[in-house]
Amino acid sequence: MLKDTYKLKGQRAQLVKELKNEGITSVNVLKAIEAVPRHFFFPKDFIDKAYENIAFPIDNGQTISQPFTVAVQTQLLDIKPGDKVLEIGTGSGYQSAILKVMGANVYSIETVKILHTKAKQLFKKLGLDIVTILGDGSLGFPELAPFDKIIMTAAAPKLLNSLTEQLKIKGKLVAPVGNLDVQKMILVTRNGDNEYIQTTHGRFNFVPLTGTNGWSK
Ligand code: SAM
Repeated sequence: MLKDTYKLKGQRAQLVKELKNEGITSVNVLKAIEAVPRHFFFPKDFIDKAYENIAFPIDNGQTISQPFTVAVQTQLLDIKPGDKVLEIGTGSGYQSAILKVMGANVYSIETVKILHTKAKQLFKKLGLDIVTILGDGSLGFPELAPFDKIIMTAAAPKLLNSLTEQLKIKGKLVAPVGNLDVQKMILVTRNGDNEYIQTTHGRFNFVPLTGTNGWSK
């Protein structure tokens, strides 16, 4: 349903309150979550669940991330208008839309064809100018590097040099890194050619990253 209603807007405002209570402080992130109708990106038979603070199954055994997780990753990236952002794992397209309304230039890679195609069509319908790529995001996207920000929305077995090397100086990467059950949210800031600073921000549970540098080849 590509229609927004007072009821759904109200549920969205309630979700934003919940995220504030859970510690999300970035006004820009909260505004973006209030602005983007998450139900547009949700399986249409379950729209009543779109504003619950939960991850939810989409096609092909994948998920639309939990709003809290989207908020944490986006807040960590400190998105500025004009940032060139690479997303790994387009999925439903919701995270890309959040980045786009915050003024980023978004390049999003997905490895599952049906998800790539659906997201591409949805962005077109919504007038969101987001570049969608079908491919293996575990390699990043060297053709378009370097990026100001890189966000990985699938669980990586380790921090990937293939990605950190594609950051601009002062660029940031956020990625869930760990085993298949639980991952730490790692923020990497590139301070020089060979100088990276790493901080950790809580535990999460993502679907696995596949591909060359993922869990399965
Ligand atoms: N960002 C998404 C959203 O807003 O709905 C949620 C993404 S879901 C948690 C993770 C996605 O990563 C899945 O769609 C999965 O197919 C994709 N994925 C896994 N490995 C990948 C890879 N090597 N390259 C690109 N996408 C990958």
